[in-house]
Formats: sequence, C-alpha cells, structure tokens
Amino acid sequence: MSGEDCFVVLNKIFKPKKEEEISNIKGYTIKYGFIVDNDEIVDEVLVSYFKAPKSYTTENMCEINTHGGNIIVRKILELCLKNGANLAEPGEFTKRAFLNGRIDLLQAESVIDVINAKSDRELKTGIKQLEGILSKKMAEIKQEILDVMVNVDVSIDYPEYDVDDVTNNQILVMLDSVEIKLNNLEKSFDNGRLIKDGIKTAIIGKPNAGKSSLLNAILKEDRAIVTEYEGTTRDTIEEFVSIEGIPLKLIDTAGIRDAKDEVERIGIAKSKDIAENADLIIAIFDSSKELTQEDIDILKIIKDKKTIILLNKVDLNSVLNENDIRFKNVTDHILKISALNGNGLEELYVLISKMFSLNEINLDNDIVITNLRHKNLISKAIENVEKARNTVKDNMPIDIIAIFVKDILEDLGNITGEFVTDDIINEIFAKFCLGK
Ligand code: GDP
Repeated sequence: MSGEDCFVVLNKIFKPKKEEEISNIKGYTIKYGFIVDNDEIVDEVLVSYFKAPKSYTTENMCEINTHGGNIIVRKILELCLKNGANLAEPGEFTKRAFLNGRIDLLQAESVIDVINAKSDRELKTGIKQLEGILSKKMAEIKQEILDVMVNVDVSIDYPEYDVDDVTNNQILVMLDSVEIKLNNLEKSFDNGRLIKDGIKTAIIGKPNAGKSSLLNAILKEDRAIVTEYEGTTRDTIEEFVSIEGIPLKLIDTAGIRDAKDEVERIGIAKSKDIAENADLIIAIFDSSKELTQEDIDILKIIKDKKTIILLNKVDLNSVLNENDIRFKNVTDHILKISALNGNGLEELYVLISKMFSLNEINLDNDIVITNLRHKNLISKAIENVEKARNTVKDNMPIDIIAIFVKDILEDLGNITGEFVTDDIINEIFAKFCLGK
C-alpha cells in the first residue's frame, strides 16, 4: 500500500507481535505479526515499513509478506480494501513515483522494459535507463540549449544591444552540437529495436532441407529462453529466443508447413514475402543433395538480403560445398552445420551477433534507444534543429529563432515527461501490470 493513510489501514488489519506507535517505527523496518480479520488470524506475516519520502513512490508505504497462495493473498487484499484502501491501477505505484518527481518518465518506462525483458541485453539496457543514463544525456543536451537561450532572451529583452550576430553564431554552434548528439541517439535505435524486439529471423529452404530441425535445435538449447509470440502475419508464429543474450525473433513458418496445398507449402512467393520483412534470413540447404531448381530460386530471393547460408546435414556425405553456392553471388556468410546433432550452431550464434554488431555495443556506457516513442521524439527534435538552423541562416529575427529552439526543448521535455500530456502518461502506464 502507498499513500498518506496506508498505515491507518494497516493498523486495522495488522497486529504486530510487539505493538508500537507508528511514529516510533522507522522506515526500512520489518515487523513480525499477524493479519487479522476482526480478531480472527488470517496469516502470519512480515510487514515492511517505508516512511515518506524514502519509498518507491516517495509516499508512506508498507508491504505485507504473506505465505502466498491465491486465497490468502486475495483475502488480505480484500481486507485492505474493506478498511479503506483503493485498488491500484496498472502501473500506479510507478506512476506515483513519476508524478511525485522521484523518477522521470524515461525511468518509469524502463520499469516496464525491465519487467518484460526477454533477453539479458534488453534487461541490461532497461536497467541502465532506470539508473538514468538516458535522462542524464537528455539533461546534458537541454542544458546546452538553455545556456544559449539565456543570451537569446537577453537579445529579445534588450534589442538596443546589438548582440544578434554573436548570438546567431552561438546558436549555430549549439545546434550543430545538439544535432550530432541527437543523431547518435537516433542511430542507436537500429540496434535498440533489435535488442527490444529481437532480430527478426526467417528460416527458409525447400522441404526437407532441415528448417524444422534447425528451429528445434535452436529452441532446445539449454541456454535458450523462449517466449511465444503471435506472428505479425496470419500464418506465422513468432518465437523469441535469447541465446547468450542474443535476441532472436524466429519467424516460424509453421503456417506454411501446415498448409494443405503442396504448392502453397513450398511457397516460393511466400518465402519471398517472409524474406522481405526479415532482419535476417537463414537459408538452409541440404548438403547431401545436389542443388535443385527450388534451391536456385531461393538463392535468387536472398541475393541482396542480409543472409546466412547453412549447408545442413554435414554429418552425411556432402555433395554440396561453399563454391557451389557462391557462384550465385550471394552472401559470404556460409556455414556448415548439422541440425541433427547440433554441430555448427555455436558458430551460427557468433556470426549472428557479429553481423548485427551487437557485440560491439558496450552496454555499460553506450546509450541505446529501445523505445519507439523516444525515437520518434528524437527524430522530431532533429527536424526542429534543421528548422531552427534555417531561420538563423535566413536572418530571421531572434525571437522567431527562439521559438524553434524552444520547440526542440519541448520535444526533449516530452521524452523525459516534463511537458507530456495526461493522455500520453495514461497510455504509458496502461502498459504496466497491476501492482507495479
Ligand atoms: P524441413 O522440411 O525443411 O522443415 O525439414 P525437416 O527439419 O523436417 O528435416 C527433413 C528431414 O531431414 C528429417 O528427416 C530430418 O531428421 C532430416 N535432417 C534434418 N537435419 C539433418 C541433419 O543435419 N542431418 C541428417 N542426417 N538429417 C537431418
């Protein structure tokens, strides 16, 4: 429970073994006792006390640790409600932490990322944002703008001082510097998106090449953390696999496998479609057989795409080798594997991680934008930098320039939550689960 009166509610339902005035109990204290409904004991519990402002929400807070289980938890919750508490809305605790100014919106959003993280990398970027790495960067950029704005305001207030030229130059220098920083952040979203959504990976190949076997081999890895996703298209299932921190969203073409029509099943057109939308294509060939027309069609599809070619079934007698494939001018990324015994999988993961330069991101220091809302606002800020620059170059009056510069500040303020509207705040917190 959180809020000024939470101890009032608590007092009605909690009988500590050693009774004590609430004002004497220090924050960060745990007390042992019983939750009671009138005089009947409901459970033996531990209660943690947090005193404002030193709590998650900055309000008075208490947490009841029960033995768990559905009935006890429900019963205690009902007791709290009956005695004056209101049920929290999704994300309400974090929302209060934000509204009370303990964290900014960026940090609040990262709480969701941390909770929902599907891979080590996503978790780590979430934690870094929760620590405020991105907030700090935003503050830095904003300060740079504000420093120049002070002079702009002087020019507006005292037009008799002819400081325009100096100020215009300062503004241009500031805009360049701000733009470089924003561009870097915007660019980081290429990787940020992959970290958050996974590298969208399509496995294609003719029937019996070993697609399902490869998929199974990947999913069966002890190290794989698998989350099922509904595919973006009707007949695919997407599975999120994190292998040693490398996030892969495998597009399982199960729908294609299940299709009744044999032509549809092979579906070169379908493969083309899937290849079109993937970040990475894994094209798999049966190395124990000569290339067929279907294989050649697949080689055509993948020609200009980010692809890894797998020569599968190397445990059998190979009749295909790299050179039989290379003549098609396709990717250099060709690996020999056996989906059956797992040989070559390790090399596959290393190659994927390298291809997407995920290994090069220093998760401790590099700032990576993973949230589309942030990315869009950064893009908008960059547009406003351009506009501001044009007004300076066009020798517009300083107060007009100031308007555009203030727009940049507003975009950045929208990211951290200073200027953000209630609608957006509500939309963001609606994504939380209850009780967070
Ligand atoms: P798909 O139609 O492309 O999904 O191919 P499957 O994964 O169903 O594999 C077709 C057949 O090839 C199955 O009998 C597999 O057991 C077999 N197979 C797949 N990978 C290998 C491999 O690496 N070595 C051997 N020897 N057989 C394999």
